Amino acid sequence: MESYLFTTVLPFIEKHHVCNSCLGRQFGNLLTGLSNAERGSALKIFLAMEWEISHRQAKTDRETISSLMSKDFLVGEQSVRRYFPEAEANSLPCTICQDFLSIPFLEILAREACDLVSEYEFSTFLVGSQFPPNVIDSEDIIRSTFNLEYGESIKSDFNRELGKILSILIPEATVDFKAPDIVFTFDLIHNEIDIKSNPLFILGRYKKLERGIPQSKWFCRKCRGVGCNHCNFTGKMYQESVEEYTTTPFFEAAKGISSKFHGSGREDIDARMLGTGRPFVIEISEPKIRNLDFSTITKQIAENSKGKVEVTIEGLTTRTKVREIKTRSSRNAKAYRAVVSLEKSLPDDHSLLERVSEEFTNSLIQQRTPIRVAHRRADKIRTRKVSSFTIENVAKDELTVYLVCEGGLYVKELISGDQGRTQPNFSEKLGVPAVVKELDVIEVFKSTDPI
Ligand SMILES: [Zn+2]
Ligand SMILES: [Zn+2]
Repeated sequence: MESYLFTTVLPFIEKHHVCNSCLGRQFGNLLTGLSNAERGSALKIFLAMEWEISHRQAKTDRETISSLMSKDFLVGEQSVRRYFPEAEANSLPCTICQDFLSIPFLEILAREACDLVSEYEFSTFLVGSQFPPNVIDSEDIIRSTFNLEYGESIKSDFNRELGKILSILIPEATVDFKAPDIVFTFDLIHNEIDIKSNPLFILGRYKKLERGIPQSKWFCRKCRGVGCNHCNFTGKMYQESVEEYTTTPFFEAAKGISSKFHGSGREDIDARMLGTGRPFVIEISEPKIRNLDFSTITKQIAENSKGKVEVTIEGLTTRTKVREIKTRSSRNAKAYRAVVSLEKSLPDDHSLLERVSEEFTNSLIQQRTPIRVAHRRADKIRTRKVSSFTIENVAKDELTVYLVCEGGLYVKELISGDQGRTQPNFSEKLGVPAVVKELDVIEVFKSTDPI
């Protein structure tokens, strides 16, 4: 049987001076549990033995073996010297990798990378690289010339070997392909190492215990954040927001470069958010610290906001959760308490409130985009379910309504009717124009069904 390895490898290494890694990598898809340097070294040992047998039988010349006398193959060098004491090892860089894959070079890179991340706290990482195109091209050409069909790419070889050295230098961190805390990119074209700290996502729920606070920071409409007379040179429409109260302590503790607040829907500025609170995710970009003391931060938020905003933290999460809370779970059921003012006293009809409650319970409401948000939302009709609706008679011209509905229902418009844009609506059913005076979200449920 003609040996595939023998007939492919011999012509290849006679022609090209390659390091153990670059030789072994051409067979990287064969066998597991070996490094490419081990594969390459094994092949060189095999060829060196073949050479020695031939040499003893006086069948071969010295040329063949000189290609085995590489810097990283001492066995070859020593063996050849038995027969040719004056022979010298080849000191040229590897034809393919230009010695980018030599252990001493990888170690230098790994040490530099460690210095760059010394201020970062992380437990997982991933290595990436950019290779000069001529290195990639020359390997491609060699593969097609010598019919080498079991190879892996030089980049994955480099990334893995560097990852192994980094794992030794940073024993508390491991390689993670899916969601690494830190990504190292070794740019071998410009000789640079780039460090990227992936964002930190914190999942929690907030309560807003006072009215008049927007969920997100609002830049001044006139100056767009620069500062002007209109905004008293603060650049903001409102001096405080749930976003600022909640993100700032996290941002400072994590030592990030920026932060984002993702809420699962939002309540009106003048509505409180009570009960167990509304889910949110805080995203911190380029964090240096990942082990955050949630209980201290929770206290800070309550203190900084003077008790207006309180949070409970569920823990760290992923970007997937951001998408989930912003889309799917914003339709989750909500319970509201609305204090409703009536334009005039109720008609003298004892069963009226009971009838209206029943009509709204388990009803579908059609709402055309309310006038008050029409300037920023598309004009369309949305349908939302109301699953329960109870009314308490507080005074002649005031009622308290408790309702549970699908997320996204405009409660103020359900009560007022919004000039007929919401159907059915409370004012029409009652026969008395009514408006919401105070609104509280008293629960945000975990699904679209209020359970
Ligand atoms: Zn090489
Ligand atoms: Zn302004």
